[in-house]
Amino acid sequence: MSRFWSPLVHQLTPYVPGEQPKIPNLIKLNTNESPYGPSPKVFEAIRQAADDTLRLYPDPQAQDLKQVLADYTGLPADHIFVGNGSDEVLAIAYQALLKQDKPLLFPDISYSFYPVYCQMYQVDYEQIPLDKNFNINLADYQRPNGGIIFPNPNAPTGIALPLNNIKQLLDNNPDTVVLVDEAYVDFGAESAVALVKDYPNLLVTQTLSKSWALAGLRVGFAVGQPALIEALIRVKDSFNSYPLDRLALVGAAAAIQDQDYFKATCSKIITSRESLTADLTALGFEVLPSSANFVFVSHPQHEGAWLAQKLREKALLVRHFNQPRIANFLRITLGTKEQNQLLVQALKGILS
Ligand SMILES: *Cc1c(COP(=O)(O)O)cnc(C)c1O
Repeated sequence: MSRFWSPLVHQLTPYVPGEQPKIPNLIKLNTNESPYGPSPKVFEAIRQAADDTLRLYPDPQAQDLKQVLADYTGLPADHIFVGNGSDEVLAIAYQALLKQDKPLLFPDISYSFYPVYCQMYQVDYEQIPLDKNFNINLADYQRPNGGIIFPNPNAPTGIALPLNNIKQLLDNNPDTVVLVDEAYVDFGAESAVALVKDYPNLLVTQTLSKSWALAGLRVGFAVGQPALIEALIRVKDSFNSYPLDRLALVGAAAAIQDQDYFKATCSKIITSRESLTADLTALGFEVLPSSANFVFVSHPQHEGAWLAQKLREKALLVRHFNQPRIANFLRITLGTKEQNQLLVQALKGILS
């Protein structure tokens, strides 16, 4: 604390990201990174761009990358916004669209960055409890609001909301922005990007950090009708003209253009989710139905925090949230087949 701080800073409780510890031979299943590297085309593109042109600023409009994303989503480039990770895109969306007189609504169990942005941008909010099976109940969102945000699939539960339900939510809330955070959509949920052309109040965000294996490059994007995108651009250009550097711009474009590699790695992860779910169920765990690159599990006889600690002693890092309703759960990122097997072996030892 210091008397030099702006008043707001005294009130901030910043988001705490999952650890990146330097433990030798660590198996890192705590932050939903991809266990596979990015497409080799990404390295090629970044190597080529690492030359004298780095003395020049990058394209402030990121036109080439936006065009690649336009082709990918099947929408015109004026429907695309890019940022330094989707966390930045979300932060900009809070300022540009979600700060209204009425409260922002989001699930009680959800991405823990959402209330942090509310503090930062002084957005009033209400957390709507998920039902007892951790599903979103649409009727609970039938109340005055200044916007709605939720991840789909939800984090940390992994549970997906069907596209029909999202459509219904949009129909029920035509006067406020519904932001669908699709950080994990490529692992098995239906994307709301398909609804963008029909709904002027829909903004969808995605990231290259998970399914594209590029958490280190920091690239995220939003898809929405041009009026929403313009609001984001206005805020971004009042804040930072160059959020994406030259290497990130070309690396991200190369990743998106390598669809074969992308589809192959996503399907490997989806397959491993099925076998890990079966193995953990056999060990007595309850595994929520996941459409993401992680599983959210609890054991009837053992506390989540204790299990996480025991795994850590074996250099296996998983995520535990010390929060109401989910304190007994572990969120386990899907690793390679070998890593998942090591996890199952370790848990067998701990449980016996
Ligand atoms: C990981 C994640 C993000 C942000 O990812 P970036 O690395 O900032 O692109 C956003 N929302 C959810 C729900 C996430 O899990």
